[in-house]
Amino acid sequence: MAKLTDEEIKKLNPKKHEKPEFGGLLGAIAITIFLPMLSIFLNLMIRPDYYVFGFFRRFDAYEIKKGLINMIDDGMSLEVWTVYLIWFFGLAILDVRLPGKVIKGTKLRDGIHLSYKINGYPMVILLFSTLALRWRLTNGQIPELQWLYNHYNGLCFVTIAFSFIFATVCFIVSYLPPFLDAHDRNYKIMSLGGNSRYHFANWFLGRELNPRIAILDVKLFCELRPGMLLWLLINLSCLHHTYLKFGTVSDSLVLINLLQGLYILDGVLNEEGLLTMVDITTDGFGFMLIFGDLNFVPFTYALQARYLSLLDPAKTKLGMIQLSILVITASTGYYIFHASNRQKSAFKQGKLSHLNSIPTGKKTNLLCDGWWRKAQHINYFGDWIIAWSWCLTTSNHSVITYYYIFYFAGLLIHRQMRDSTKCRAKYGSAWKKYEETVPYKIVPYVY
Ligand code: NDP
Repeated sequence: MAKLTDEEIKKLNPKKHEKPEFGGLLGAIAITIFLPMLSIFLNLMIRPDYYVFGFFRRFDAYEIKKGLINMIDDGMSLEVWTVYLIWFFGLAILDVRLPGKVIKGTKLRDGIHLSYKINGYPMVILLFSTLALRWRLTNGQIPELQWLYNHYNGLCFVTIAFSFIFATVCFIVSYLPPFLDAHDRNYKIMSLGGNSRYHFANWFLGRELNPRIAILDVKLFCELRPGMLLWLLINLSCLHHTYLKFGTVSDSLVLINLLQGLYILDGVLNEEGLLTMVDITTDGFGFMLIFGDLNFVPFTYALQARYLSLLDPAKTKLGMIQLSILVITASTGYYIFHASNRQKSAFKQGKLSHLNSIPTGKKTNLLCDGWWRKAQHINYFGDWIIAWSWCLTTSNHSVITYYYIFYFAGLLIHRQMRDSTKCRAKYGSAWKKYEETVPYKIVPYVY
């Protein structure tokens, strides 16, 4: 039983008086308008006739308008909404029902550790078994994948609308008392960033830190299930569509499926790793995360596969040399990304005490050895190299598919800045010493 007085609850959830992150109220409004428009625009620009010359060559406003009308038409249909809602809530039910181990998350401001059900493996096994079964039963036709391919734009629209609705529901619910709380608390913990006097910025950044219904942690669920698995299926639907249409597939389309499939499964199967990430420990659950998880990840990270699926496989063949370069690039990125994340995690668990570190006076010190001597966020650098390998699968066919490396660079730089602000406040002079010892932020000797 964890009951607090009104005074104690106020102290636990202090009001933020400074300007909210992401550019304050104006920034929140601008991003809320701009990012959904960008997602729609990028998807409408994925068209076979921009092949080779990039999008300026044949920017056809009439075709774009027609595409938009079709997208909205399909996105308003009962059929597409029904399928998406079944997907979303079906996965939520499976998340609760499928067997898994229960582990504790990081310590919250009230001293409590929330429990998380970890069942990525059964979820992935179920998904792939269903696909294999459907393949067998339908003689390789898998109508569900064909449906996904054909209603892709409509689904993109639905996930945008759903994100607005869902963020509003979460915002309203954050004012209500906890529902089926495992710790029987009479209060909720708000995110420090999403508890300002600007209601719209709070809606955008998310008021509540860990919205949950009993064991179902809504934020962790959205980060790893409906968007990530949809991204995997979208990529597979592109491969499947190309095979049905041309009777063959290109090495580039197979490669993007393998590279991104590996990345997605890595996230979904190592869900414990997410529990210490800023998204889970610090950020509120508002439009920013919801839209990112449900729309931006599946519908813009899959652009390379969507683009490649529109062209004749003979035209998108990479060949052995390019293929090998891309595999080496991706492997290098994965190696840096994994080895550095694993090293920090092992250090935090007290396993690498022989490595140099800076004492902080807090529970853990700041590692400044091994990977963490090269840059403050060397793991972001690895992630960015992976991003290059994805975009390069589309060779020099279109500039649109390269949006991701620029977007991701912006995301990682902004993330690094937020993290520096957080760590400066948390570790004070120790962080300053760390910045002197490890001067580069993401890319060694460059930034
Ligand atoms: P980090 O893994 O870099 O974690 C930052 C936190 O780690 C800090 O707040 C601090 O937390 C701790 N820390 C930082 N430096 C040190 C150090 N030298 N020694 C010990 N502890 C340190 O960032 P993220 O959580 O943002 O990212 C995790 C991974 O997820 C990254 O590899 C990133 O590339 C990836 N990612 C991918 C995205 C995508 O869309 N594909 C989006 C976002 C992230 P503390 O207070 O606990 O000390």
